[in-house]
Amino acid sequence: MKVTILGAGVIGVTTAYQLAKAGHQVTVVDRQAGPALETSFANAGEVSFGYCSPWAAPGIPQKALKWLFMKHAPLILRPKIDAAMLSWLVRMLSNCTSERYAVNKSRMLRLADYSRIALADLRAETGIAYDERMQGTLQLFRTQQQLDASAKDVKALAADGIPYEVLDRDGCIRVEPALSHARDKIVGGLLTPKDETGDCFKFTNALAAKAVELGAQFLYGRTIKALQVEGGQIRGVLTDQGPILSDAVVVALGSYSPLLLKQVGIRLPVYPVKGYSLTIPIVDPERAPESTVMDETYKIAITRLGDRIRVGGMAEISGYTNDLGLARRNTLEHSVMDLFPGGDVSKAAFWSGLRPMTPDGTPVIGATKIRGLFLNTGHGTLGWTMSCGSARVISDLVSGRKAEIDTADLSVARYR
Ligand SMILES: Cc1cc2nc3c(=O)[nH]c(=O)nc-3n(C[C@H](O)[C@H](O)[C@H](O)COP(=O)(O)OP(=O)(O)OC[C@H]3O[C@@H](n4cnc5c(N)ncnc54)[C@H](O)[C@@H]3O)c2cc1C
Repeated sequence: MKVTILGAGVIGVTTAYQLAKAGHQVTVVDRQAGPALETSFANAGEVSFGYCSPWAAPGIPQKALKWLFMKHAPLILRPKIDAAMLSWLVRMLSNCTSERYAVNKSRMLRLADYSRIALADLRAETGIAYDERMQGTLQLFRTQQQLDASAKDVKALAADGIPYEVLDRDGCIRVEPALSHARDKIVGGLLTPKDETGDCFKFTNALAAKAVELGAQFLYGRTIKALQVEGGQIRGVLTDQGPILSDAVVVALGSYSPLLLKQVGIRLPVYPVKGYSLTIPIVDPERAPESTVMDETYKIAITRLGDRIRVGGMAEISGYTNDLGLARRNTLEHSVMDLFPGGDVSKAAFWSGLRPMTPDGTPVIGATKIRGLFLNTGHGTLGWTMSCGSARVISDLVSGRKAEIDTADLSVARYR
C-alpha cells in the first residue's frame, strides 16, 4: 500500500520506519530540510517511562496560579482572544479531577510501557546510537514540603508496579555525584531507575536513515497545503510542489496537525504549549549530571547527552510563536547553575519548541471518520518517550492488524 506520512519529527520518522518494515511503500513529507528540525530538535532528552503522567491533575489549577507569579516561573500564560486557546484551557481544567487523572494516566502508562519495549526492540534490530543512557530520572526536592508531597507519587508508582527509590540528600548524591557541589540546596529525591535518556534529534536522524534503507522516501522542503478527500476516502495530499497520491495518510504534524485537519471537518484539540531548552557543552564531566535530574521547584529537567547537558522546561501558553525571551533563558541558567555550579553557559545554544498538547495528556492515535486517514499526534510533553510504541500501534492499524495494546480509547473519537 502507498502510505504518505505528514511530518518528519520523531513521531513521523518512527511511523515511517515501522510502516516501511511492514512492507508498505512509504513517503514522508516535511517543510524542513531534514528530520527533527522542529519540536523534536532539542527537547529535554528524557525517555521517562516511569515519570509519565498528565499535566492535568488534581490541585494543578491552584498550583498554576502560584507558578504564574514566581520569579523563575514554570508556567507562563499570555491570554489572547483565541478560541482554540480558550477551549483547550477549559478542557484541560476539566481533566484536573481525580477520576479523569486516573483514566488519563493509565492510558499514558499503557503507551509508555509499550514504548519501552518497542524502543528496546528497535535498538536491538537497528543498533542505532543517540547518546543513550539507562540510568533513570532523579526528581529532586529542594524543600521538605516537596519531599512530603511526593508521597502521593510514590503511592501511584507502587500501584502501577513502577520501580522507584525514595532518597535522602546523601542518596541523591550517591546517584548523581556532582550534586555534592550543591549539597545545601537539596533535601531529597525520588528515583525512577528504569527511565532512560537520549538525544531525540540524533535518534530521529539515525532512524530516518534506517527507514531509507527499508525503501522509505523522504521529501523535504515541501509544505503541505491540504488533504485530498473524495467520497469519504483519502486520496492523498496537496503540497506547495504538487499533489502526492496515496492509499493511506498518517498525520504526524505535531502542533500543526489541527490546522490541516480542520479543513476536512476533524476537530483535534491539540494546542501548542511552548517550552525552552539550553544545550551546554560540558567543561568538567565531574560537575555534570550522569542522567536526568528533574528540578521540582522550577519543573526543569537537566539531562546528560554525551558531552553536553540539555536543560529543558517551562510551559508557555502563547500560541504559535517560537520567539526566545531572555527571562526564560535566565530561568534555565538559574536552575542548572544552582544545582551544577562550575559549568559555562556562555556557549549554550538556546531553543524553543511547541509541544503538541492534548487537554488529557494522551496522544491521539488511530483512524478517523475519513477512510485511509490516520492520526499519530498530540504527544505533548512526552513525544520522545512515547514515539516508538505509538509508531508500532499506528503501523498495525494502517496495515489492518490488531495492535498489541488496547487502542479503543486512543483515537480522536474519544473527544466526541
Ligand atoms: C522544551 C521541551 C522539552 C521536552 N522534553 C521532552 C522529554 O524530555 N521527553 C519527551 O518524551 N518529550 C519531551 N518533549 C516533547 C517532545 O519533544 C514532543 O512531544 C515531540 O517532539 C513531538 O514530536 P512530533 O513529531 O509530533 O512533532 P515535531 O517534531 O514538531 O514534528 C512535526 C513535523 O511536522 C512538520 N510540519 C508541520 N506542519 C507542516 C506543513 N504544513 N507542511 C510540512 N511539514 C509540516 C514540521 O516541520 C515538523 O518536522 C519536550 C518538548 C519541549 C518543547
